[in-house]
Amino acid sequence: MLNCTQCGGELHPDEGQLFIACPYCGSTIYLDKSRVVFHWYLAPTLNDQQASAALARWMAGNDTVKDLDKKSRILGQTFQYFPVWYFKVKDGNNERIYLEPAAATSITELRNLNLPAGDLRKYEDSLLSTSLEPTVPLAAAQQWLLQKQVNLQQIAECALVHIPIYTFKYGFKNRLYTAAVEAATGRTLANIFPAKAEAPYLAVGCATALVFLCLAVLLAGFSVAGSGASTGIGLAICIGGGMVAAPVLFGFASWVASKV
Ligand SMILES: [Zn+2]
Repeated sequence: MLNCTQCGGELHPDEGQLFIACPYCGSTIYLDKSRVVFHWYLAPTLNDQQASAALARWMAGNDTVKDLDKKSRILGQTFQYFPVWYFKVKDGNNERIYLEPAAATSITELRNLNLPAGDLRKYEDSLLSTSLEPTVPLAAAQQWLLQKQVNLQQIAECALVHIPIYTFKYGFKNRLYTAAVEAATGRTLANIFPAKAEAPYLAVGCATALVFLCLAVLLAGFSVAGSGASTGIGLAICIGGGMVAAPVLFGFASWVASKV
């Protein structure tokens, strides 16, 4: 026998039924193997076009390779409510929300989503056809919390939340990538994407270091060679060399930055 998490009323789910609404208080409930929890969903505010626009803005932004929005090709767009386990953990006066994916996903950034409690609504049966069913048991998600040093005794609230997600597949330079747009806020989530390459920046850094190392060696050479006069000449050469090298290197760095 099962009881409602809200009112304690007796629930009589059918064999295999996972989603249920309490007949007494109307709470929506999910039946996990280990226990009964609240079941919420986050209402989407973006439609298909707005989700594509959010993705395009992210692609045009500074996190990704230059002109990704123009150079990539969108190959597919799907919408689904994705399940996450929601934990409210209270430690004294501190309250923290932890999210863990309740189904397999490559997008682990889901954990970092912000889910304001006020935006959560009672799950509705009409969303079933577009909802992914949880495959990660609550107990497994609790194990992940333990690994994060969370004291399970401090969990004040636990729920299943279905989050509206647009998943995009896109091609860039003969590789396939996946990005997700969370349809309540338009935030883009992607673990692997064509990022700005680091190699050109490293090259500029190394060139700069090398030039100044040469100048330093030169100065040391003059100093060892002897008199105050030659040290003075060495110093003048180094300062002069530095003054010539700095704008050249700066220009090179700017050029690299504009290319990647
Ligand atoms: Zn109830």
